[in-house]
Amino acid sequence: MRWKEQLLTLTPYQPGKSIESVKKQYNLDKIVKLASNENPFGCSGKVLSALQLNLEGMPIYPDGYATNLRDSLAAFLQVEPEELIFGNGSDNLIQIISRALLHPDAGTVMATPTFSQYKHNAVIEGAIIKEIPLNSGNHDLDGMLKAIDEKTNVIWLCSPNNPTGTYIPEDALLSFLEKVPPHILVVLDEAYFEYVVAEDYYNSISLTRRYPNLIVLRTFSKIYGLAALRIGYGVANPEIIKALEPAREPFNVNSIGQAAAITAIEDSEFVEICKEKNRKGLELFYQFCKKHQLEFYPTQTNFILIDFKVDGDTVFQYLLEKGYIVRSGKALGFPTSVRITVGSEEQNEGVLKVLSEFLQNI
Ligand SMILES: *Cc1c(COP(=O)(O)O)cnc(C)c1O
Repeated sequence: MRWKEQLLTLTPYQPGKSIESVKKQYNLDKIVKLASNENPFGCSGKVLSALQLNLEGMPIYPDGYATNLRDSLAAFLQVEPEELIFGNGSDNLIQIISRALLHPDAGTVMATPTFSQYKHNAVIEGAIIKEIPLNSGNHDLDGMLKAIDEKTNVIWLCSPNNPTGTYIPEDALLSFLEKVPPHILVVLDEAYFEYVVAEDYYNSISLTRRYPNLIVLRTFSKIYGLAALRIGYGVANPEIIKALEPAREPFNVNSIGQAAAITAIEDSEFVEICKEKNRKGLELFYQFCKKHQLEFYPTQTNFILIDFKVDGDTVFQYLLEKGYIVRSGKALGFPTSVRITVGSEEQNEGVLKVLSEFLQNI
């Protein structure tokens, strides 16, 4: 076979370890997974009843245009239906954008470390990649502007950023968008948007009206608790959406997910409660870090990156053997840190107890 050369340099995405495999390997009966930033409180109870009704539609292809979800979400966000595109998770939208705009003679700019899929897809398309190091955990927007050249087609921003949890403040984003040439697509990935509490966080949806080269990506996988159903969406100027649509697979969003997402946005109370519990949980992590003088980035998300100043894999392994799955920072660009998803109160207390033991033993 004559594979694309760049494909041979890639490894498939390494997800957080699965609960079942860890149970077996370490002979544990209870596992707590705090590795992939899923919602520890599940999803809205209303979604579960909506799903029962939709199982009958299984033999039928989904509505490829996601008409009902499109209309509900447009009303919810106060945008026009033509300003939306849906993906099989926002991962799929990253892939669609890359497919539509990147090729061996096109350039793309992104932060590092950031969400791995921007680079992964850019590599597959053979694009010219410029990675601009974070500055104390934050996007170096000036550095990213300087990296723009005549070949640049796409710039990726992740706010709040995975894996640091840091966000881009409004004034910084605005002055950045002012300076980016209008033929370059700026992708603003807001997978953790619903968790944000910072007061100087911008209203990105209204910015898509002001900057027709901006696309905002969001997902139902995080606070809405629907990661398994794979629903992400993009909001942008209708011209951008129209140009991207042919690169989208016709039936990329399944019907059960569409029905679930419609019900999920109706339950704003569930989202509010999760957001509040998340902030309370984070407080415990902050206190722990201060008590043990561990460095961390203040986070706007449901995860926290903590620097233990030892090999991240060692911390990861210690927790794993006690039944807690987290992400080692090693594969995330922070070799002495671990990234932990904020769980339920019980899960947070549990993982912090094990981490205290770990610190006493080193
Ligand atoms: C989780 C995550 C995604 C992927 O979300 P899906 O909608 O489940 O594909 C995208 N971007 C960031 C930054 C994430 O953390």
